[in-house]
Amino acid sequence: MYVTQTARRGPDPDATYELSSADVELYEAARRLLITAHHSENHRVAAAMRGGSGTIYLGLHIGSKRINVCAESSALANARIAQEDTIHSVVAVSMDGSSEPQVTNPCGLCRELLRSYGAETFVLVDAEGEVEKVRIKELLPYPWMRATETEWETRPPRSGPPDT
Ligand SMILES: [Zn+2]
Repeated sequence: MYVTQTARRGPDPDATYELSSADVELYEAARRLLITAHHSENHRVAAAMRGGSGTIYLGLHIGSKRINVCAESSALANARIAQEDTIHSVVAVSMDGSSEPQVTNPCGLCRELLRSYGAETFVLVDAEGEVEKVRIKELLPYPWMRATETEWETRPPRSGPPDT
C-alpha cells in the first residue's frame, strides 16, 4: 500500500538553521571559483568550506571521461592541510542552465565523507529552490558503521503484526 507524499521532500523544517552573512560569504566564495574555473567536463562543481578557525578553503571538482572526484574532497584536504581540527560549514555549487552557479546538494559519498570529519558540520542545501542550512548528521542520520564500532548492542529484527 502506498502512502501519498504531500509534504515537501526537503529537510525537516525543525532541523534547519537561519542563514548568516558568513554563509552567504561562503556561497559567494564557491560561486566566484566556479565562474573562474568552470569547465563542462573537468571542473563542474566548486565548493567552499569554513574551518573551525573561520578561514574559508576552496575545492574544485576534477573529472575526466571516466573519473570524477567531488569538489568537497579537495576543500576538505585544503582545510586539513591548514591544520583545521573541525569543519564549521560547507557549500557546493554547480552551473544551472543559464550558466549561473547554484547551490548543489552533496552526493552520497560526500555525505559519508563529511560526516566522518564531524557530525555537527553545517551544509547549505538546495531544499527544492530555497537554500537552507542543516547539519550533516541530518543529511545522513544512519551512517555506515561496522558492528564493532557502534556504542550499542543491536538486537536482531523481530516481526510484529502482519502489514495491512
Ligand atoms: Zn560528492
